[in-house]
Amino acid sequence: MTQANPFRPALAKMLPYAPGEQPPPGSCVKLNTNENPYPPPPAVVEAIRTAAGGPINRYPDPMATSFRRAAAEALGMPGPEWILAGNGSDEILTILVRGFVGEGQRLRLPYPSYILYRTLADIQGASWEQTPFEDGWKLPAEFAKSDDGLRLVLLPNPNSPSGTIVSPNEVEKVSASLTCPLVVDEAYVDFAETNCLDLVKRNENVFVTRTLSKSYGLAGLRFGFLVAQPHIVAELTKIKDSYNCDAISIAAATAAMGCQEWLADIKTKMNTTRAVMQSRLSAMGFEVTPSHANFVWCRHPDGNHKAIYEFLKQNNILIRYMQFADWGDGLRISVGTDEQMESCLSTIERALQS
Ligand code: PMP
Repeated sequence: MTQANPFRPALAKMLPYAPGEQPPPGSCVKLNTNENPYPPPPAVVEAIRTAAGGPINRYPDPMATSFRRAAAEALGMPGPEWILAGNGSDEILTILVRGFVGEGQRLRLPYPSYILYRTLADIQGASWEQTPFEDGWKLPAEFAKSDDGLRLVLLPNPNSPSGTIVSPNEVEKVSASLTCPLVVDEAYVDFAETNCLDLVKRNENVFVTRTLSKSYGLAGLRFGFLVAQPHIVAELTKIKDSYNCDAISIAAATAAMGCQEWLADIKTKMNTTRAVMQSRLSAMGFEVTPSHANFVWCRHPDGNHKAIYEFLKQNNILIRYMQFADWGDGLRISVGTDEQMESCLSTIERALQS
């Protein structure tokens, strides 16, 4: 006889990722998962074509050497041994949690922030602790407190859903009072003015994660990476799948690292659109949190956020309605093209009037 429920108890309380958030391409104005509305650089598309005509019958380079070299150069890191490539930065986060947080141990994250960290702890049979942000999305002193059970602290910076950023100085202070590693998740940092790479060079307990899904317009490929001191990268390499990145993605990501001018232009373009969004939303009466990412978090003092989200959805515009227990709710809107923003903002105006 088989057991009634053969799965590990940790799975019982978990929910699968909501597939409704990824409708078929082109079926709506998609402003819900912070992708780049523009296509990736032409050099990346060319690299994908070339790689597709290459030796696909062979396994890819397990260490993504070409990418690690290109990334180290583009980011001004001392060498490829400071970089670990992954199948999206979500895989890098998985590797980190598997490497540092065992059963019965604990990780910490700020609240509200990226929910995946909690899921990763749950899968490990570990626990998580959420430290609420103070007013103005400031980190409270408790975020930097250490104890024996605490094995990893994760900080999205810029944060999601707020788009706010903590300065490298402040991150350094947090890491100085922690006894465990601090992961600075820089998924959105290419839209901001500061980053924590210099801190990684000086501090073996600070790691940075990055993704090509947002700024580089490559969410469909799945490519992310870790920046950490070489002995950390070497140890985590033991955990990753043998061939965690495929040959086509490695070629594309390598080419993307050579497109820094393209990246600077995209940043200017999207941050200009973001500024327009912020001022239009403020003019409609929203409280808009100043954003350093490619999305905007806003709340309307007398608006029904769920109703606004639903009204947009009926009009084929998908944004994120987010509700956080014991905290409140609001709307997170990704920066799209100027045309997409125009239709989103004018539909919000109609929703507020209805
Ligand atoms: N970190 C944060 C804060 C995110 O919002 C996301 C996107 N959902 C990721 C990491 C993961 O990005 P990806 O796996 O596409 O690299």
